[in-house]
Amino acid sequence: MVEKKKLQVEAIGTGTVIDHIPAGQGVKILSQLQLLGTDLRITVGFNLPSKELGLKDIIKVENRLFNETEASELGLFAPQATINVIENYAVRAKFKMSVPEKLEGVFECPNSNCITHNEPVQSSFAIKERNNDIQLKCRYCEKSFSKDIVAGL
Ligand SMILES: [Zn+2]
Repeated sequence: MVEKKKLQVEAIGTGTVIDHIPAGQGVKILSQLQLLGTDLRITVGFNLPSKELGLKDIIKVENRLFNETEASELGLFAPQATINVIENYAVRAKFKMSVPEKLEGVFECPNSNCITHNEPVQSSFAIKERNNDIQLKCRYCEKSFSKDIVAGL
């Protein structure tokens, strides 16, 4: 299993490999990280066999090294995912995703009456896992939304 994962990682020279994405979440991650419509070379695998997940998605982005902020945004959609940052065919950094406790300045509040739309403040959400979903609660209007609604998916 470990050796297999290594092989997938080594297939890329420099860039980022997002592995162990729950099947079906890969598309959301692509759209959330705004990877589409760029000239980045992206290799995507959907519904690949995975021992832990049954099926998984995998995304390889060449010549782009993800930082931990991007990794934490990703944690919303794929808390089990691993991010491998590759340089010259070697793993330079490896992040294990987890659901972040809060997110600031990433998403707009879906509540059109929220003060964040009229004031020059950064959006800020507290994040809670509930009933297999991840909910974001706006710090300003105190409304809670499902992660898919906040991310506009
Ligand atoms: Zn709000």
